[in-house]
Amino acid sequence: MKCSRCGLCCHNTEMLLSSKDITRLEALGYDIEDFMVTTPEGFHQLRNTDGKCFFFKDDKCIVYPSRPEGCVFYPVILNLEGKSCITDKECPNYHTVTKREIKGKCKKLKKLYREIVKEIKDY
Ligand code: SF4
Repeated sequence: MKCSRCGLCCHNTEMLLSSKDITRLEALGYDIEDFMVTTPEGFHQLRNTDGKCFFFKDDKCIVYPSRPEGCVFYPVILNLEGKSCITDKECPNYHTVTKREIKGKCKKLKKLYREIVKEIKDY
């Protein structure tokens, strides 16, 4: 895809975090209390500060090489049931994602989602 780095996907994020994401971000020296919130259902997700992801500063992602796996797959996302993949039309460049890219990312995204669901059940 052609990401224009507009940062829209970092506004009001609801990006889920796996335990691997959390460990990687903590290893950078960030405090889990600062960058993570837990939903009533028990999912861990990125915290927003002033309507933007905690890690989005000066119009850029300050942890880009270590960003959550779900951010790497964006704008390919799972539908609400977690069963099939769609491209998020909130991304202005969603139409540049190829079918091949969707297919490749979808497989990994489903695996990630299964891991996250298992983690909250085991918690
Ligand atoms: S919204 Fe789309 S184009 Fe903008 S930074 Fe995110 S992925 Fe890139």
